[in-house]
Amino acid sequence: MSVALFTLGGTIAMAGHTVDGVRRLTGADLTAAVPGLADLGRPIDVQDVEAVASANLTLAKMLDVVDAASKAISNGATGIVVTQGTDTLEETAFVVDQVWPHSHPFVLTGAMRNPTLAGHDGPANLLAAARVACSPAARDLGALVVLNDEIHAARWVRKTHSTSTATFASPNAGSIGQVVEGQVRILTRPARQDGVPGRAEPADLDATRVALYTVTLDDDGLLLDGLADTHQGLVVAAYGVGHVPSALAPVLGALAERIPVVLTSRTGGGSVLRHTYKSVGSESDLLGRGLIDGGFLDPYKARVLLRLLLATGEGHDEIIAAFAQHH
Ligand code: ASP
Repeated sequence: MSVALFTLGGTIAMAGHTVDGVRRLTGADLTAAVPGLADLGRPIDVQDVEAVASANLTLAKMLDVVDAASKAISNGATGIVVTQGTDTLEETAFVVDQVWPHSHPFVLTGAMRNPTLAGHDGPANLLAAARVACSPAARDLGALVVLNDEIHAARWVRKTHSTSTATFASPNAGSIGQVVEGQVRILTRPARQDGVPGRAEPADLDATRVALYTVTLDDDGLLLDGLADTHQGLVVAAYGVGHVPSALAPVLGALAERIPVVLTSRTGGGSVLRHTYKSVGSESDLLGRGLIDGGFLDPYKARVLLRLLLATGEGHDEIIAAFAQHH
């Protein structure tokens, strides 16, 4: 049984610059650079899909990768590894988690230091990711992010530092496991949640715009004007436990009458509250005006989930139920 490796580019594959652009390594280059990979005793079947900075990845592209990965599983692969840039990895991993139908591990990894730098972390991350992809202990956990010998659940992981090799962390739950002396050690097994039912087609994704609005000090909300005419959904990254300036509360309430508006916290950890504060612009006021409780989901993942749900034609009650899994 093999491991299927899909490469999408990113720093892990960035071997310097040429006159006309970036010199990217192929999957064969990446695997050749990893001492110990051969000792896994599993062939690595490489598919080079893209060679881009992860800012250029799309939701549709990730769904294509999931389809190709599903085919690999049907053909006998024991698990999946994707290498990509780290910038969007917390979002792409969550996309995969929402639609991955198999019990087999689907592991995403990358690197913070490119192969031209001392201490390049790509080979160690790729080896650890491949170990997790082969591990029976990592089954039934959905999409996983493996870097720095830590195993994170897609629903919780975040990129928390712009340069550190320890950038990936799960502020609400911690990592769910580690790779220790080459062994995959799962410390906690979060139950799988219901994913997004149905398949979002590229045309439906293109037609589904979900805005992310971060509330800031002395915010007049001008950017929200006319938003329901151009967008099908909105995620609000609110202060703290889910607060916005009072003047924005009726604006958001009016939007929530036309499109789903999800309330999240911009803090990077913790849940929005439901009934602690009562003033205009507080969490209970906003929920009373029809905003949807985003629970522990961070704004970026909430945007992924809302776009997938809308693109697959889910209605308001189903959207509320999908977010309720994250309370
Ligand atoms: N900018 C790069 C990317 O996301 C960063 C990385 O790979 O770590 O493609």
